[in-house]
Amino acid sequence: MSNAVVWKASVLHFLEDPDSASVNDACEYFEDGALLVVDGHVLMCGAAKDVMKDLPPGCEVQDLTGRLIVPGFIDTHVHYPQLEVLAGCGVQLLDWLNQYTFPAERRFSDRDYADEVAGFFLDQSLSHGTTTSLVFGTVSPTSVDAFFTAAQARNLRMIAGKVMMDRNAPDYLLDTAESSYDDCKALIHRWHGKDRLAYAVTPRFAPTSTPQQLEVAGRLLQEHEGLYLHTHLSENPKEIEWVSELFPDSKNYLDVYDQYGLLGPRSVFAHSIHLCDHSWERMGASGSSIAFCPGSNLFLGSGLFNLGKARRCGIPTGLGSDVGGGTDLCLLNSMKSAYQVSQLREETISPLQAFYLATLGGARALHLSDRIGSFRRGNEADFIVLNPEATPMLRFRTEKTKTLEELLGVLMVIGDDRVIESTVIMGQEAFRRD
Ligand SMILES: [Zn+2]
Repeated sequence: MSNAVVWKASVLHFLEDPDSASVNDACEYFEDGALLVVDGHVLMCGAAKDVMKDLPPGCEVQDLTGRLIVPGFIDTHVHYPQLEVLAGCGVQLLDWLNQYTFPAERRFSDRDYADEVAGFFLDQSLSHGTTTSLVFGTVSPTSVDAFFTAAQARNLRMIAGKVMMDRNAPDYLLDTAESSYDDCKALIHRWHGKDRLAYAVTPRFAPTSTPQQLEVAGRLLQEHEGLYLHTHLSENPKEIEWVSELFPDSKNYLDVYDQYGLLGPRSVFAHSIHLCDHSWERMGASGSSIAFCPGSNLFLGSGLFNLGKARRCGIPTGLGSDVGGGTDLCLLNSMKSAYQVSQLREETISPLQAFYLATLGGARALHLSDRIGSFRRGNEADFIVLNPEATPMLRFRTEKTKTLEELLGVLMVIGDDRVIESTVIMGQEAFRRD
């Protein structure tokens, strides 16, 4: 017998980018709505009066009137081993890596420690409403085995990879072009395509890989179907200068990756803040995606991402928390930071646009919109239940809102992880706030 549950609440999801379509075409919002889930997949999303008319026999009813259901948030760039360097103050990117990040990543060759942090990271992600992430491990394959084991146990759709890094970092964190090839291959065989997991070839960034290692990354992508490429690009002016010294024959930073065949529809470049016109065009033509990490960009003082330009170039863009350069796992906070960045750029985004970026936008950036990110019939039922009255301040403010847009604005500006009342994975409750 099938397992059917109908969730009654306000329901919102996106069908299109609200920037390129009218509000009515971009999203579906049912104030008295219902989401019918059968065997872990969405069967129907609509007005309660329509959905409740024809329920499967034995269907369980979850009445969550007063709550708002949206698809689970999608974090398109995050480092799970960096939880312990959250809030590392006082420096910008290159010093931050040396001072905080590299020493912390050393411990992840210890399986017990990696297991503990991977489990904690995923449970925290769920409690923050994030149901899918594109994740950096460390250079140690153990860190990735631990991560995938923990994700598989929770039945999560997750993408991760081992860092490839064979120069310009402490000795204890270096691999070689050859060892990274062997380690990645073994991880790909163990994990890629298993249950809801996928592998990302993950050179940290151009400065910490030799040309030989970038060549290996390109070879891995060619040898296996459906792999991702996940790396950093043009985050900080000093980093960019360093890249031009290390790769004098490349036209620009993106071109370094391009030369090794690392661009394409499953390639995700975190940050991409300081790009020349040629890079923007090339990025768009290649079908590559960008992870916009506004919280991290503000915290590390990296710069203001040009979201409008990314849109105009047709580049799929999602939000990334970039913990630990970012300050928390909460994508509501990333939406607020995205809004602030857009204000400073005088290209203000709407709350609808912010929620799109955290859901369908992220799914598109990860090439997964046929499975997650919206409540299209047949999609995997990963979703979250938001409580607009989670705190006295939220209750005070949200009871005065009159439109959906206003409510979403309040949730992203005043809300935080306390708004996430529960998180549902493939139709099963995976987190509930007490
Ligand atoms: Zn990062």
